[in-house]
Amino acid sequence: MNRKSKTLIVAVDGYSSTGKSTVAKIIASRLGLTYIDTGAMYRVVTLEALRRGLIEEGKVKKSELQKCLNDLHIGFKYNQETGRYETYLNGEYVEDRIRGMEVSRQVSVIAAIDFVRSFLVEQQREMGSQESVIMDGRDIGSVVFPDADVKFFMTASPEIRAERRYKELIDKGIKVSYEEVEANVRERDYIDSHREVSPLRQTEDAIVVDHSRMTIEEEVEFMIGKIKAKY
Ligand code: C5P
Repeated sequence: MNRKSKTLIVAVDGYSSTGKSTVAKIIASRLGLTYIDTGAMYRVVTLEALRRGLIEEGKVKKSELQKCLNDLHIGFKYNQETGRYETYLNGEYVEDRIRGMEVSRQVSVIAAIDFVRSFLVEQQREMGSQESVIMDGRDIGSVVFPDADVKFFMTASPEIRAERRYKELIDKGIKVSYEEVEANVRERDYIDSHREVSPLRQTEDAIVVDHSRMTIEEEVEFMIGKIKAKY
């Protein structure tokens, strides 16, 4: 792994819906880091697989998926008006599509495929070698950047996480039941922690942030304090 010593890498890993992206975005804007949402990258590959009909009853047509990966260009743009980072697939705005339940139901299956992971990990390492980043995901501190400058691991109870995710989806006008969201959060945690390739795990050098015990502002201040200690 080749990275310029000047770049600062902050890894934010943890379970689904622990507020990783919310705090990472705030920290990015306060410290002038680039925010990278690696979950969005797995979601984009999942959207493409669904559009091409490559997932049937939970089974993925892997060789066809592998062939189309190199045609996928995943990009992020910061929208000044909404203040949000938005995801693009080959120039098409896909931010809302990738957050829906259809993609959420299949994403952990796609993320467990070894060639999908190596394809995306390579791009993530490239991004971190160019500029200082705060990257959120499941394997950033363990696999993508084992030598990250600061590593956080975020956690919270499944009920608190499902509640967060449910509110987020309802606010976006997406129709879902709370039960469906909770089942999806638990299922993704299970698949993410038990897969053979790069399972979600807390590294020994990660700082644990318990989302059930702190407000977002408290989390941000706590994390910024830890990052500044490394400057
Ligand atoms: O972060 P988010 O919940 O959007 O991620 C969606 C899914 O992508 C996760 O449930 C996980 O299966 C997968 N993922 C991953 N490795 C990452 C980021 C996300 O396996 N670094």
